[in-house]
Amino acid sequence: MAQIDDLPPLRDVIAAHGLNAKKSLGQNFLLDLNLTSRIARSAGNLQDCTVLEIGPGPGGLTRALLAAGAKKVVAIEKDTRCLPALAEIAAYYPGRLDVIEGDALQIDPVAVTGGGKVRIAANLPYNVGTQLLINWITTADWPPFWSSLTLMFQKEVGERITAEPGSKAYGRLGVLAGWRCHGEILFDISPKAFIPPPKVTSAVVHLTPRDTPLPCNLRALEKLTAAAFGQRRKMLRASLKALSPDAESLIIQAGLKPTSRAEEIDIAGFVRLANMFRDAGAV
Ligand code: SAM
Repeated sequence: MAQIDDLPPLRDVIAAHGLNAKKSLGQNFLLDLNLTSRIARSAGNLQDCTVLEIGPGPGGLTRALLAAGAKKVVAIEKDTRCLPALAEIAAYYPGRLDVIEGDALQIDPVAVTGGGKVRIAANLPYNVGTQLLINWITTADWPPFWSSLTLMFQKEVGERITAEPGSKAYGRLGVLAGWRCHGEILFDISPKAFIPPPKVTSAVVHLTPRDTPLPCNLRALEKLTAAAFGQRRKMLRASLKALSPDAESLIIQAGLKPTSRAEEIDIAGFVRLANMFRDAGAV
């Protein structure tokens, strides 16, 4: 791809600012403009919204988001070494990039994006990516503050987020994500696209909030799925026994077989179970 802006190539930015990748910060930088632009396009129409980016690093995806027309990008970066490089991007796109230094797990995403329509796009650091996703899909308010998530994960994590019942990847994350969101893996990215290359393939996952998830209490669903998948090889009547001595009868009342295993239960089934156990005061 030809250039997307007149800023220096990312390789030069990394060299000029001494941004040798740190494993402890999950740093694998994506330098391929075709891929960063593809991720930015996948995030949808950015012209009318604020994009929250976690971990901009040297700014490859940030530049693609801005070149794709994002009205505003708010980027949270923990590594202070990246701030001068990001300041150059902010100067090139006046008024359109706010960089916040800090740990994304400690920063209130609603406060920093200031209301209005928000899309989240990020090549997430592997060590905090799943926790950030869980935070975004378990907000107390639903619909949430964001209207889409376009996120790069290790492929194995992407498969867990979008897993169907009956598959090996299906578990707590898939139930929670599938209950509240539509999710799909858009495309894979080879380790070769990154500096340094990670050990595994990555995948870009796109999630949008369901308008009306099946009625269920979030904490009850979390407790129920934790118990069921905590011992995923056991039958439900055994794995849910710790929650209630009446587990077997509650499972039957939820219209399910006590001999089923967690991975066989679809999301609607987990919702019925969580509601039944909650009504019984068990979760
Ligand atoms: N967005 C860049 C790209 O695509 O090339 C960098 C992605 S790299 C996988 C992850 C980035 O997240 C790094 O820049 C790292 O410093 C940053 N990071 C790691 N932990 C973070 C945290 N807790 N909060 C904010 N940023 C973090």
